[in-house]
Amino acid sequence: MAEFKCEKCGETKEGRCKPKKCPACGEAGVMAKQEEKKSSGCGCGCTCGSK
Ligand SMILES: [Zn+2]
Repeated sequence: MAEFKCEKCGETKEGRCKPKKCPACGEAGVMAKQEEKKSSGCGCGCTCGSK
């Protein structure tokens, strides 16, 4: 599951597909995919692979 965040109002929404428009403010084309929290770098929880 990916998370998408509105660049305009900051609303976040989880889903498989990128929302066409923000569910909160209704602006289209502002939903940007966020980094997934679990997988960073080597996958052990450290930050060695993410810069
Ligand atoms: Zn919004």
